[in-house]
Amino acid sequence: MTGSLTIAGLGPGDEALVTPEVSAALIAATDIVGYAPYVARVPGRAGLARHPSDNRMELQRAGDALRLAAEGRHVVVVSSGDPGVFAMASAVFEALEDQPQWQALPLRVLPGVTAMLAAAARAGAPLGHDFCAINLSDNLKPWPLIEKRLRLAAEADFAIAIYNPRSASRPEGFARALEILNDAGCGDRVVIFARAISTPKEQLETVTLRHARPEMADMRTLVIVGNSATRRVGRWVYAPRQVR
Ligand code: SAH
Repeated sequence: MTGSLTIAGLGPGDEALVTPEVSAALIAATDIVGYAPYVARVPGRAGLARHPSDNRMELQRAGDALRLAAEGRHVVVVSSGDPGVFAMASAVFEALEDQPQWQALPLRVLPGVTAMLAAAARAGAPLGHDFCAINLSDNLKPWPLIEKRLRLAAEADFAIAIYNPRSASRPEGFARALEILNDAGCGDRVVIFARAISTPKEQLETVTLRHARPEMADMRTLVIVGNSATRRVGRWVYAPRQVR
């Protein structure tokens, strides 16, 4: 019996934002592997084994999923949003590099609606011009690199989507990020705090950067810093198509 491995994104929260392709993969699965809150989003049923694990267990989780697939199971590794954006797809490929015997397994990566796209759509069109995405967690990279990227993104006048802005274990980083952006001359820029988008706890708040406070973000918030031309129209925020 030949197993398979599918790495799927569950979208930002709302069932309506799970793609039909991902729903079909979940129905065909024998095993669901992932961070516990994401595994919990997949309803249990007879014949389905669920394997929840802790945060920060990515590489071990990826190895476990590959092993199950090699044993003949149809495994779906779940991430929130898109699995290729600060999520499990990279961890699976990293595990594959160490274990060449698994490289022939049928493997698919199924895209999902990533948080910045769901958040941008709620706010209007703040990513309508050039933009970048920065993960503010320094679990997997040195903090000085994050500072450098923030400075250069500000200088290049990108709109900036900030993932993982703030958590209980990293309360300082986001305050420092706001300071860096203020020092880079971004004080007048529009900033969107998009929390728990597409869930019942959704909140959306827009301020200018100089009025942004660190407590406005938590681990369920996606922050979008506009570019220098980003503006408001009524309750909407958008980046004009044209920049001179
Ligand atoms: N793979 C995911 C991102 C994982 S990193 C994706 O593509 O969306 C986790 C971070 O994503 C959170 O700290 C938060 O910044 C953001 N995020 C995830 N879901 C969100 C939601 N529903 N609303 C706002 N931000 C969200």
